[in-house]
Amino acid sequence: MAEEATTANPVSDCLFCKILAGEVPATVVRETDRTLAFRDINPQAPTHVLVIPKEHHPNAAALAAADPELTAYLLRECGEVARAEGVADSGYRIVFNTGSGAGQTVFHVHAHVLGGRGFGWPPG
Ligand code: 5GP
Repeated sequence: MAEEATTANPVSDCLFCKILAGEVPATVVRETDRTLAFRDINPQAPTHVLVIPKEHHPNAAALAAADPELTAYLLRECGEVARAEGVADSGYRIVFNTGSGAGQTVFHVHAHVLGGRGFGWPPG
C-alpha cells in the first residue's frame, strides 16, 4: 500500500516522505490520491493514526498558507479516519504539533487522530 504512494515534492531526509515512497514501512489504514493515513509507531491512545498530505509541507500553518483547499481536504480525511476507526461518535482529538517547542519531531505536516479513551484539558 505505502509502496504505491508518491509525493510530488519529496524531501530526501524526511521520514514521512520515505513512508510515502515505500522506503520505510507503515501500517496504512486509508489512502487517497492526496493523503495517506497510517498508525503511529508509538500510539498514545487505542486509536492513534497520522494523516499526512502527499505533498511535503513542514507544518500545518505552512500547509494552510500554501494550499487552503488541501488543508480542508486533510481535515475531512481525519473525520473519515475517525469514522472508520469507530471513534467518531465517542469523540476524538485532532492534534497538529507545530514547532519543536510544541513537540513536533517530524517536519512533514501530520494530523494526529487520537481516540478510544478520555482526554484531559489542558493537554500536557
Ligand atoms: P510529532 O511529534 O512530530 O507531532 O509526531 C510525530 C509522530 O510520528 C510521533 O507520534 C511518532 O511516534 C511518530 N513516528 C515516528 N517515527 C515513526 C515511524 O517510523 N513510523 C510511524 N508510523 N510513526 C512514527
